Amino acid sequence: MLRAPRGTGDVLPSESRKWICLEKVLREISFKYNFEEIRTPVFEHTELFSRTVGESTDIVEKEMYTFEDKGGRSLTLRPEGTAPVARAFLEHSLGQGPLPQKLFYIGPMFRYEKPQAGRYREFHQYGAEILGSPSPYSDVEIIALAVDIAESLGLTGTKLVINSIGCPVCRERYRGDLIKYLSARSDAVCEDCRKRLSKNPLRVLDCKNVSCKAVTSGAPSMLDYLCEDCQKHWEGLRELLLRMGLSYEVDTSLVRGLDYYTKTVFELKWPPLGAQDAVAGGGRYDGLVEALGGKHTPGVGFAMGLERILLAVEKGEKPFREERALDFFVIALGQETRLDGGEKASATRDERIPAAQNAAPGADDDIFRRGFFLVREIRSLGLSCDFDPLRRSLKAQMKQADRLNARYVAILGEEELEKKMVSIRSMKEGWQKEIPLESVRDFIEKEVLGRGNQC
Ligand code: AMP
Repeated sequence: MLRAPRGTGDVLPSESRKWICLEKVLREISFKYNFEEIRTPVFEHTELFSRTVGESTDIVEKEMYTFEDKGGRSLTLRPEGTAPVARAFLEHSLGQGPLPQKLFYIGPMFRYEKPQAGRYREFHQYGAEILGSPSPYSDVEIIALAVDIAESLGLTGTKLVINSIGCPVCRERYRGDLIKYLSARSDAVCEDCRKRLSKNPLRVLDCKNVSCKAVTSGAPSMLDYLCEDCQKHWEGLRELLLRMGLSYEVDTSLVRGLDYYTKTVFELKWPPLGAQDAVAGGGRYDGLVEALGGKHTPGVGFAMGLERILLAVEKGEKPFREERALDFFVIALGQETRLDGGEKASATRDERIPAAQNAAPGADDDIFRRGFFLVREIRSLGLSCDFDPLRRSLKAQMKQADRLNARYVAILGEEELEKKMVSIRSMKEGWQKEIPLESVRDFIEKEVLGRGNQC
């Protein structure tokens, strides 16, 4: 049997409601902050990522799903969302519109990583970007948005970790000193870090290897190298966070894996998740749009891993209700329905599918058609409604209505049809009423509507 590729997964019907609810919360909060949704392609020219994320980053070196298409172009399944948003911003001259542009996205990302709990090869991110503002107020708005989302989802006790990695000018000076420091201790760092040392020494700082950590704990700190502009931004950010009541920790080893970051970098952690506890991460990227050939456009943003958020929500204070609910189930009772499945099942036939469904149209079809018409009518009122196309017995259909957690069942049998009535049963309250068919719409509008069971 063919299985889904390693590190990917299906969202089955039992899970998909959680995704819908999560996406609804994400969109509602984004609109509250006046962000608009942007959707970019799932694959882009490889160059977009190598030029922005950085040639010597893990993502570009080891994790991209890159392929040549039939026209010989090198394309890559997007490993992250910020570079595509910046590309679209430029391509569609969004910078000519009012600034800043506040954009969010929700979609799949692809990285060839070692799969483990909370780490997949296809995963989904929500991300938000503010393009065109150099102000630390925008950094704080982005951080507040991430915290607000986590809190609305019941994740109390998130930990905000921040750092500044300066700008290309002050970072260059720091880089030189860091290389000197690390080179003198290169025997004590892991093999990966020895390779990173000259190409991307900042990455050595966030290596989780114990011996590397021992070395980097004494390394010079970027915060001592910030130029005047970066220092002012850093102080402004910290002061604003405090005033907003957003407590934070400074971690000078937080550098994040992408080259395009400048000044602020941050991570939002939710410790009960264990090893993979970062639920969101982001920062400022003042040089990104320029690196893509545009005008200088400062930006700041973050991305949140949705699989990880869902894992966290399960453990948090407001797990999503998994309960599936249907407003109405219509049971049309014809001759076939009462036969309870009809002829004996053959070996190749699925026993749950009665043969009677193929019965030639007859008198019962009137009832069935009337029932089907009622289904349409109920749906047109904005309610969810289903029926049994296989025409099983009343008992089997009641069981099905129960399994679907139907709030009401409408029963239409020969007797009812003769009297032009329909029986409505409330599954929750236990009552059953006979309603004239012609006023069933009114009845539903009065008794049922406004109490809908939406997500
Ligand atoms: P990044 O784009 O690496 O800054 O990651 C931002 C967020 O995306 C992280 O905090 C995680 O929540 C999530 N994330 C990153 N990589 C993966 C992955 N391979 N699988 C699942 N979630 C991920």
